[in-house]
Amino acid sequence: MSEVEDFLTTQEEQEIVAAIREAEKNTSGEIRVHIESSSKKNHYDRALEVFYQLKMFNTKERNAVLLYVAVHDQKFVIYGDKGIDAVVPDNFWDTTKNSIQKHFKNGNFKQGIVDGVLKAGIELQAHFPWQTDDEDELSNEISRG
Ligand code: CA
Ligand code: CA
Repeated sequence: MSEVEDFLTTQEEQEIVAAIREAEKNTSGEIRVHIESSSKKNHYDRALEVFYQLKMFNTKERNAVLLYVAVHDQKFVIYGDKGIDAVVPDNFWDTTKNSIQKHFKNGNFKQGIVDGVLKAGIELQAHFPWQTDDEDELSNEISRG
């Protein structure tokens, strides 16, 4: 869909991938970004479906996080795996969500995603610090619906 193509320039995409790489320097957690135009399903359910399609449960500590964005619907969901849910409070993602929301409202999508990714990395660091034997368990490339 052209809408998704137009959403981010190649340059902006590269900045997001760089942010993921940067965020993962602080934590053993894995962060992925998925962008699509819209979803007929409830966005939370759709994020969960994408999480499984991308096999994001394939981490040793079950600590992957998906930032799902439906461009046309102007919706986003942050979905963290059960390893994260087990150790963090319910409002854990609020600061990350706020970072994203603020920029999305102003139409700064790239900056919203970059800030959200970096914020998620910092939040995860406290519970899942980076280890010397860290592996990049999940691709840092953006996934498109
Ligand atoms: Ca890793
Ligand atoms: Ca990764």
